[in-house]
Amino acid sequence: MTANTQEKTPLTLLGLGAMGTALARTWLAAGHPLTVWNRTPGRAAGLVGEGAKPAGGAPEAVAASTLVVVCLLDDASVGEALADADLAGKDLVNLTTTTPAQARARAEWARGRGARYLDGGIMAVPPMIGVPEAGGYVFYSGDTELFEEHRETLAVPAGTTYVGEDAGHAALHDVALLSAMYGMVAGATHAFALIRKEDIDPVAFAPLLVDWITAMAGPSVTGTARKLASGDYTRDVVSNLAMQVAGVPTFVTTAEEQGVSPELLSPYFELMRRRLALGSGEEDLTGLVDLLARGE
Ligand code: NDP
Repeated sequence: MTANTQEKTPLTLLGLGAMGTALARTWLAAGHPLTVWNRTPGRAAGLVGEGAKPAGGAPEAVAASTLVVVCLLDDASVGEALADADLAGKDLVNLTTTTPAQARARAEWARGRGARYLDGGIMAVPPMIGVPEAGGYVFYSGDTELFEEHRETLAVPAGTTYVGEDAGHAALHDVALLSAMYGMVAGATHAFALIRKEDIDPVAFAPLLVDWITAMAGPSVTGTARKLASGDYTRDVVSNLAMQVAGVPTFVTTAEEQGVSPELLSPYFELMRRRLALGSGEEDLTGLVDLLARGE
């Protein structure tokens, strides 16, 4: 790769854990002058060999560049690491996973110390960083101008998806997508448990499960989104709630027959019954969103 360090934005990276190290390597490979700091000093050694400049402390690292990227364990470690740093005039990009409220509070905190602030939620694991075809990307939210000015530099490790001025929205998108993933994995866990004691090869079963989840995911997610947007939960309903609730005993009894606990699915079935009791039998499952969000 051609690396003309004269033209590339210099930056500082705080945090050389698994993710920080992966990020650092991509900026170095792309020719960005990079200052690094890690609480435990030994972790910078490999990167220094690749051209990174080690800083003796976090304040020194922050002072080295206008653009400061932070990728630490959690919000508390960000506060701790930056406690004595002068943030005036800095562009702080926080890629540490936090809650939306923590991100908003951190944005206020940074602004109060004279910095522009952008929050990020990384939708990738370290091996996907610097590998565009792996499809990883980072949600960004917060200061639009900061994002626009540093867009090219931020796009070096992974794709960028800006989701608005609210500093909490990157974290919210991140957690929302991961929450959906856990729901999906929970469903697969239950399915594998059902076949566990039978003469069914889990490896042969897997592609059937993947194909089914894949086929259902698109129509279900986009259908729910359209109904939420229109407010009409009865339009274009393929499988209505009354029919689906009638099928619940089959799922519960099959779990019993197979000696499998229904504990992963029971809360969802309970929500379906509660929504049906409100007279929503002609809807699909969209109304469950309101049950959860409003606690009806
Ligand atoms: P690691 O556990 O590998 O590294 C944690 C980093 O935080 C280390 O640099 C550690 O320093 C530092 N740290 C912890 N506590 C403090 C503290 N009090 N003060 C200063 N530094 C501290 O985590 P990752 O690199 O994997 O993750 C970093 C962030 O990236 C996390 O928020 C994570 O959620 C997010 N992320 C990670 C993904 C992954 O798959 N790894 C995927 C998506 C997001 P030290 O070396 O001294 O312990």
